[in-house]
Amino acid sequence: MKDLEILNALDLETQRQRHNIELIASENFVSRDVREVTGSILTNKYAEGYPGKRYYGGCVDVDIIENIARDRLCKLFNAEHANVQPHSGSQANMAVYMTVLNPGDKVLGMDLSSGGHLTHGHSLNFSGKLYEFHSYGVDKETEMIDYEDVLRVAKEVKPQMIVCGASAYPREIDFAKFKEIADEVGAYLMVDMAHIAGLVATGHHMSPVPYADFVTSTTHKTLRGPRGGIILCKEKYAAALDKTVFPGIQGGPLMHVIAGKAVCFYEALDPSFHDYIEQVVVNCKALSDELTKEGFRIVTGGTDNHLILVDVKSIGMTGKEAEKLLDEINITCNKNTIPFDTEKPFVTSGIRLGTAAMTTKGFKEEEFKQVGRWIADVLKNPSEDNIAKVKQEVVELTEKFIFE
Ligand code: PLP
Repeated sequence: MKDLEILNALDLETQRQRHNIELIASENFVSRDVREVTGSILTNKYAEGYPGKRYYGGCVDVDIIENIARDRLCKLFNAEHANVQPHSGSQANMAVYMTVLNPGDKVLGMDLSSGGHLTHGHSLNFSGKLYEFHSYGVDKETEMIDYEDVLRVAKEVKPQMIVCGASAYPREIDFAKFKEIADEVGAYLMVDMAHIAGLVATGHHMSPVPYADFVTSTTHKTLRGPRGGIILCKEKYAAALDKTVFPGIQGGPLMHVIAGKAVCFYEALDPSFHDYIEQVVVNCKALSDELTKEGFRIVTGGTDNHLILVDVKSIGMTGKEAEKLLDEINITCNKNTIPFDTEKPFVTSGIRLGTAAMTTKGFKEEEFKQVGRWIADVLKNPSEDNIAKVKQEVVELTEKFIFE
């Protein structure tokens, strides 16, 4: 490689990924196969359109790839129709909104501070600018979705669409209940399963596919594929949805990424992926229990999935301070608002921790319990000496779990 500036930064990032304990709940480590195909010569090919109906010549080979990706995705989630072209989760959501909504229509989504995503109506995001978003939150006591309250708000707002799914919700979501609510107010139901797609694929979370009109996801979180988006829908929406993705909001599909998605679905269909997700969930409970033992308050009291929200105010610290301290001992996570947070989004009272990435590297309960103890140790005693000592221990552990 001649570009030494980029090569140097890439080397640094390779070292960081090797020697950091990665707890960002939306990240993972893809297999070498996914990485190689995503970095392959397929990036050279233009293929506007869909298999068999392209606006460019020379697409026979990439047609094979996109057909395989769509078929595997339908099989993985038992879906009627799949579109694998969205460049990201945000574009997948945009495509669904633009397929069935008109600008100004009312949509009901999860409040961002309770765990919803930017594309579920943030005022600075296209979703909040184009549509009239309203929100439901979580119960003040349980910090979980209160379905009675969602129904109450839905009856009040009368939305054209209800969106569920979240970026920071540690509990199982009852899609059957959301479907009942959507039916009661005559709204479409869209489920954004970006975070939990891997758990849905293996039966560790209820599937939204039987209930939702549209299901969107990213492929790079618990599903462990390349960065990108996907959409599943009922056959009756297939033609309109495909037309919204292309030519509606995108040009040429990223064929190298679609091939990476196809390999990801191949891997997710293998029984070993079930075992992997099982371990992700077991590890998350172990981390949650250890932090509880250490005196931290875990939002909702625990977890059903791959992530936890830790209320670091329970030990007198902000999320921003905790994220920075953990960075110093090579533990990577992100500050996160917790329900009814009194701090600003750039400060927050919580941190979000996920187990998908380090489970891929081979961490089991013992390692996650150790991670919990290190987190507690450094946040309670952030002296220079302690930080240096724990960082050394973290690096030693990561060296036993190198994943290439
Ligand atoms: N939906 C949810 C629930 C997410 O958590 C995310 C990303 O974090 C997205 C959508 C957006 O994905 P992307 O970053 O690929 O646009």
